[in-house]
Amino acid sequence: MHEGAIVQSIFDSAIEIKKKEDLKSVSVIKIIVGEYHQIVKEVMFTYYDNMKSDYSGFENSKLDMKVVPVKIKCKSCNHIFQINDPILICPKCNSFETDFLSGKELYIKTISGETNN
Ligand SMILES: [Zn+2]
Repeated sequence: MHEGAIVQSIFDSAIEIKKKEDLKSVSVIKIIVGEYHQIVKEVMFTYYDNMKSDYSGFENSKLDMKVVPVKIKCKSCNHIFQINDPILICPKCNSFETDFLSGKELYIKTISGETNN
């Protein structure tokens, strides 16, 4: 998935949350993104700033991003390691049998803003 599609899906969810929480305007959307998605922060912010004016109540909002590293656990030797490239090989025993512990996250953690009352 590319940044534009990710930002679009963030807006889709944020609009639902805004409705549910009865917010008049949104100030900060805090998201958690796993490094697995290989997003470029600057590109995310550019998309966000270009798109936010299309959504009422989001015009003055900001995107806050927390990037979670990819952590893998080897099923063969239980070694836990962090990777920077999407190559899922255990550096200890070279096994391909690995589990994701973190790094695939992509969700909104919190939304802050002003309520209608
Ligand atoms: Zn291993």
